[in-house]
Amino acid sequence: MNTLVAILAVAGLLGFLAYHRLPAIVWTIAVAIGLLLLSAYSGWSPVLLGLLWIVFIAAAVVCNPTRLRRQQVSRPLLDVFRRILPEVSQTEQEAIEAGTVWWEGELFSGKPTWNRLLGYPRPALSAEEQAFLDGPVEDLCQMLNDWQVTHELCDLPQQAWQFIREKGFLGLIIPKQYGGLGFSALAHSEIIMKLTTRGSTAAITVMVPNSLGPAELLLHYGTEAQKEYYLPRLAQGLEIPCFALTNPEAGSDAGAIPDFGVVCRDEWDGRLDVLGIRLTWEKRYITLAPVATLLGLAFRLYDPDHLLGDADDLGITLALIPTTTPGVRVGRRHLPLGAAFMNGPTWGKDVFVPMDFVIGGGERVGQGWKMLMNSLAAGRSISLPANSCGIAKLCALTTGAYGRVRQQFRLSIGRFEGVEEAIARIGGNAYIMDAARVMTVGALDMGEKPAVVSAIVKYHLTERSRQVINDAMDVHGGKGICMGPSNYLARGYQQQPIAITVEGANILTRSMIIFGQGAIRGHPYVLKEIAASGDTDAERAVRDFDAAFFGHLLFVASNAVRAVWLGLTGARLMLAPGDRHMRRYFQRITRLSAAFALMADIAMLTLGGALKRRERLSARLGDILSQLYLACTALKLYEDRGRPREDLPLLHWSVRDALHRAEEAFYGLFANLPNPVAAWILKHLLFPYGRRFPPPSDELGHRLVGLLLEPTGARQRLTAGIFVSRDENDPVAGLEAALLAVIAAEPVGAKIRKAREEGEIAGRFPEEIIEEALAKGVVTAEEKVVMERARRLRRKAIMVDDFPQDLGRTEIYQTTQPVTTDALHGRIRS
Ligand SMILES: Cc1cc2nc3c(=O)[nH]c(=O)nc-3n(C[C@H](O)[C@H](O)[C@H](O)COP(=O)(O)OP(=O)(O)OC[C@H]3O[C@@H](n4cnc5c(N)ncnc54)[C@H](O)[C@@H]3O)c2cc1C
Repeated sequence: MNTLVAILAVAGLLGFLAYHRLPAIVWTIAVAIGLLLLSAYSGWSPVLLGLLWIVFIAAAVVCNPTRLRRQQVSRPLLDVFRRILPEVSQTEQEAIEAGTVWWEGELFSGKPTWNRLLGYPRPALSAEEQAFLDGPVEDLCQMLNDWQVTHELCDLPQQAWQFIREKGFLGLIIPKQYGGLGFSALAHSEIIMKLTTRGSTAAITVMVPNSLGPAELLLHYGTEAQKEYYLPRLAQGLEIPCFALTNPEAGSDAGAIPDFGVVCRDEWDGRLDVLGIRLTWEKRYITLAPVATLLGLAFRLYDPDHLLGDADDLGITLALIPTTTPGVRVGRRHLPLGAAFMNGPTWGKDVFVPMDFVIGGGERVGQGWKMLMNSLAAGRSISLPANSCGIAKLCALTTGAYGRVRQQFRLSIGRFEGVEEAIARIGGNAYIMDAARVMTVGALDMGEKPAVVSAIVKYHLTERSRQVINDAMDVHGGKGICMGPSNYLARGYQQQPIAITVEGANILTRSMIIFGQGAIRGHPYVLKEIAASGDTDAERAVRDFDAAFFGHLLFVASNAVRAVWLGLTGARLMLAPGDRHMRRYFQRITRLSAAFALMADIAMLTLGGALKRRERLSARLGDILSQLYLACTALKLYEDRGRPREDLPLLHWSVRDALHRAEEAFYGLFANLPNPVAAWILKHLLFPYGRRFPPPSDELGHRLVGLLLEPTGARQRLTAGIFVSRDENDPVAGLEAALLAVIAAEPVGAKIRKAREEGEIAGRFPEEIIEEALAKGVVTAEEKVVMERARRLRRKAIMVDDFPQDLGRTEIYQTTQPVTTDALHGRIRS
């Protein structure tokens, strides 16, 4: 037999086994058959064949899970592993373990199961939730005037506060049995998104009690007595909650808060010798603190007199403290960028509270960090992504309309290629952001708490929203800059850094959390290896480590084969579901997923614990994972909407952009891996033909922008869920009316232009021209009305506000009451 053919056959066989990740026993049988065939027909020398059999038997013993392997290979390996495993602090460990692994686990596997993605149920609102959006949410939006809120009142109007409390906005997540609305994550997200499009102050005021805070913590960890007392009060708005974690000395590094409590005995409520905690804290940036009646507080608890047990340092603990408790100080306000929601510091010194103020009571003492991380694993997926999508949708709607309505050089500005580039980015980003929002809250409604995905959507949706609002501002020019009641962008632009900073500031989230947590949590084997190395049962530890470690080896081999093969073939031979547009993307994502899984393992293997410090490498690995996730969500949205052909430019733009960004992150890694030889080899193995994922083309951007410059179905779907007033005097509603009017007038305008070019009309000014066109029968009386309406609405849409010399301050102070914290407290408690 030809030796080359035999070698190729063996390589092909091994490649096939690795590609399909077949278990060791299948490898053993397949290779044994191959060797038998070689022995019978190859005519190779008996010495060579004997050697091959020896190698095979040794490999079979090592690769199959036998007792011999466990004792002779895995046990010593486990000892080595334990020695080299980087130190993981308790807080890091609890962050890693928080939440569940969901679709990101498929991307880490290098072999995503596409039918699983397509099979996830399409997220949908219940009739009750839809009615709430169409009723109270719509009404609240109508009630709000963002300029009045942010510039004149520096607060929500009292009527809006009342409405928010009475209609249950503060209890969206509280189950019905406690008097709350018990809404799904999707409904929660839709409500925040819609409110955002009317102004972030109300959105944030509603968002905070429904995210990480007293209600969420009580639901999961509260004692029955705490739930029975507080949840109905929170649901009815009788309590205004806030949650205080951040200390001036500990922001991002929240696990290091210096705020502390000491277990002691003191007098409480007329009773002597009550077991409790003496608390000292200094918190800042706390949303709703200036008006809160219930303070959720995070602190480190110490027990120097061992009243609770043997330990001195009991760890981070959470308590709920009525703000009327003697010594609790709240009230002053910070002034966050462009927004008027309540935010401020709180502090206290030696404030005694009884032990039953601890959330969950005595058994939850010291578990605060774990409770926070678990709550954040879900909560981070809802509020800020919804807020970001609201901004993006509003920008898509208004910038599309403004791009058509605003003319320069006798053309709608949206028709200029340079402006098209910005509008295309707005549309493409808004599409993929909405897709990620909906798919992720869908996961929460399926019972998942996807910690890594929640970090992905928090980071990427807030970042994309920043890009979108910047683009929208650029397209609007001076109209976006001059502030006043008719500016619908500037407040969103000012407030964007708030979303970037809170719930895990973005740089940290990208550099430390997405891959740092994902590599351990989403990887199919790493957490199992770590868990086995920490197991104190020696036999179980070896058994579990053996399974995880050898599974991991096969996984790496498989990803190497898959990544190279899929790179060489462009994944074109791979079977994938969906229509022809989706299939190709599924193939390409599978290819990048295999390459990512391999890169992740190589980075962990070569850098080990140092990867934690090499944040820019970790960030790029996180970028790849994130872009692949976002691309998946866009495909899922397209599928769930019934694959509307009209939406294809949005799908293509957003998926191509995401895959291009993923490829750039790969190249960023190749350029910066500490070992240049390994980087060179990886680059040529994974991208044998160089870069293959170009950014969306100009032509695609042009088609996408065409969808936004007129009231198409695609535009309607893209911007669904935002608030647009029915009153044409409202700036956004007025712009929409102008868009329709301008489109209706275009054929009339064309007739007049033609008549002017042919010399039939001599007038020079607009009124003059229209009158002449009517007089000469170029347009009818009805067409003249259409032209005039378009001119009037267009003019209104492009105008900006102006003010007296003192910018209206005297007027404001004459018409509004000064806002004092005492008045605020009185108002909330009334
Ligand atoms: C308007 C507003 C509302 C808020 N509401 C609340 C609230 O209700 N309750 C509450 O407890 N807190 C609240 N916060 C606090 C918020 O969570 C913190 O601002 C946030 O955690 C960041 O902390 P910091 O501002 O001190 O920034 P710092 O921790 O000083 O960080 C500064 C920068 O350094 C980066 N950074 C820090 N460490 C790393 C690292 N290891 N790797 C990479 N980058 C790093 C951060 O990403 C950030 O970009 C609020 C903040 C604001 C502004």
